[in-house]
Amino acid sequence: MRTQHFLFSICLFSSVIWALGNAGAFAADDSPSSGVSLGGLRVAESAQPGPAPRVFWRGVHVGIGSSKAVEQLTEVVGPLARLGINVIVGEINYGYQYRSHPELRTGNASSAEQIKKLQLECRMFNVRLIPQFQCLGHQSWKERNAPLLTKYPQFDETPGKYSKNESIYCRSWCLLHPEVNKVVFDLMDELIEAFDADALHVGMDEVFLIGEDTCPRCKGKDRAELFAKAVNDYYEHLVRGRKIEMLMWGDRLIDASKYNYGKWEASANDTARAIDMISKDIIICDWHYERRPAYESVPMFLEKGFRVWPASWRKPDASRAFVDYSRRFKSPRMLGHLNTTWGAVPIRELPGFEPLRYAISAFAK
Ligand SMILES: [Zn+2]
Repeated sequence: MRTQHFLFSICLFSSVIWALGNAGAFAADDSPSSGVSLGGLRVAESAQPGPAPRVFWRGVHVGIGSSKAVEQLTEVVGPLARLGINVIVGEINYGYQYRSHPELRTGNASSAEQIKKLQLECRMFNVRLIPQFQCLGHQSWKERNAPLLTKYPQFDETPGKYSKNESIYCRSWCLLHPEVNKVVFDLMDELIEAFDADALHVGMDEVFLIGEDTCPRCKGKDRAELFAKAVNDYYEHLVRGRKIEMLMWGDRLIDASKYNYGKWEASANDTARAIDMISKDIIICDWHYERRPAYESVPMFLEKGFRVWPASWRKPDASRAFVDYSRRFKSPRMLGHLNTTWGAVPIRELPGFEPLRYAISAFAK
């Protein structure tokens, strides 16, 4: 919605510039029926601009799970915007001082005031700020469980299993637990309010634990149907309910047996068929971090009807290859480029991050 306002502003600005540059035309035809008034200027109908120029999404994904990270990001919004960044995805997860569930805050969570400051800075520089809350997977890191499974162990998809998280990547919550969405939606609603958000990124990458035998609700169920149910539940709440846009990572929707990606950036655990069970209205963040001759998932998502936002990381040659590959697709649903960071660059040094600078310049027009 904010983007629409921004586009309208561009249209309005273009009209006024056109009017100022063609002042003689108005003197020649000043009849009331022949034009519209813009701030006291009468603009001939022929002066109306054509379709708004395409604006690519030049984005950066930043972890903002601590108040320090939020403050540092706020400091570089201006420099990033001047480079050409127009979208920031801030992954906050449990790093916000939630009022509905204070028990789920991390110790260094940011306050509403700090988020407001970040949000106002983004608005001042016409940067769209999209919060991210990691759903379903990534509910632990190394030995530590994330707050949701610490405070609500009954939501765990593999309760009592994998002591100290040995032999697994990350824990998942059980998407069929009857109470879990109520808690998660409370958190989402607070983020939408705090960020004044018109979109939310729900994560959902690298979900390896789903439909596990240890879960009495999910055991034996089709993993693609389970994954799609989670996506559809979040879509129902965010898009249908809150009237905002929804973004998610794309890896669980790419069939690793058909596309030559590994089991991280594509699904080898039978979730990929979910791609035909979810709304095409969801924006797919298609991440790939290695250099490849082709990134076939981009045309695959486009042909399915999704909007695709390719995402790269720290390797300059890999990022360049992905940017160059995706630029060949002229579909307006190929949105631009999202640079992830994952700690590879300190937040304060983001404006100098080489992969970021390349993507921005490639999608400048
Ligand atoms: Zn389950």
